[in-house]
Amino acid sequence: MAGIYIHVPFCKQKCTYCDFASYPRELSKAESYFACLYREIQGRAKQYPNKIIDTVYIGGGTPSVVDANLIAGAIRQVKKCFTVKKDAEITIELNPGTVDEQKIKLYKQVGINRFSIGLQTGFDEQLKKLNRIHTAKDFLQCCNLLKGENISADVLIGLHDQTLEQVKKTVDLALAGGVSHISVYALTPEVGTPIYTDYLNGELLSDDETADVYDGVRAYLKEKGFERYEVSNFAKAGFRSRHNMNYWKRGEYIGVGVSASSFVDGRRFTNTFKIDEYINAVIYNKSPEISSDVIEGSDAQFEQIMLALRTSDGLNIKEFNQNFSVDFDNEYKEVLAKKMRFMERKGDILTIKDEYLYVQNDIILEFMK
Ligand code: SF4
Repeated sequence: MAGIYIHVPFCKQKCTYCDFASYPRELSKAESYFACLYREIQGRAKQYPNKIIDTVYIGGGTPSVVDANLIAGAIRQVKKCFTVKKDAEITIELNPGTVDEQKIKLYKQVGINRFSIGLQTGFDEQLKKLNRIHTAKDFLQCCNLLKGENISADVLIGLHDQTLEQVKKTVDLALAGGVSHISVYALTPEVGTPIYTDYLNGELLSDDETADVYDGVRAYLKEKGFERYEVSNFAKAGFRSRHNMNYWKRGEYIGVGVSASSFVDGRRFTNTFKIDEYINAVIYNKSPEISSDVIEGSDAQFEQIMLALRTSDGLNIKEFNQNFSVDFDNEYKEVLAKKMRFMERKGDILTIKDEYLYVQNDIILEFMK
């Protein structure tokens, strides 16, 4: 079973914190870009003919900013070229303020059955400061168009002077919109983004303050019936993201488009981040990849540990031993002795204790060889 990720690198304008491959001034290239996407999908299907597709994820950028027919074409192409399971989870990321009834209708017609909305915060002043294109009201209107559908919302924490109360109100807004899945991401001020200056000026929440907000919102979401199944992801029962679960289980996925990464047959590879370079490569039948690594041995083991320990399902040690023909307890006995107080073991399952999951990086890095 494998997933497909389709990257749409266009946005209306750049958010102040954004470090993704998204290019607000390149929207005029959307048609040629999608023509190349369709070609890459066909090429990847020929390269990997036996993969059964369980999930498709259209992310960006802002997929909803382009003509919905282009998106529909991409889904049709995936279904034509690959074997896609009947009950496949097909997600699209939406930015409120770029959707309308017609778009949603077409998305649903081609089989999109999960909608991930970039809310970030329910406060218009904060949205404006982040250079988001929408308001809280736009979010609710977007949800209104999606009534009864499987909706997820992204929420950012660590913003300028953001309080836990504000984040709780943002969660309330998401709940009012009918979401069954919420991703809570801590703002990461990347060098070169406008918000990095604010970070240097000490205008953003400190790491400790953000951790406190995270703990507060985690408890609040629990009260509201959301299970935390990964560090940043919370879902009502039955609404985990299958696409992301596949990443954390170290499952295979094929990424198409600018900056898209793939993991197939033990190889990780990434496409170019530049739209023109991507279009030229595909047109001239060259590979758009800019990096490729076969992951094996201790690197593969570390990947499995790192991904699994981010989730509440944890690491299945029996499976790990079978996959890598090792004895986990013996191989990692020193780390286990040092860090076991932060972890929990039930039978074959090793997890990071609930209260330490947010700071899992330090624990996980110990497993690196
Ligand atoms: S909408 Fe998303 S991808 Fe586009 S600029 Fe904002 S954060 Fe970046």
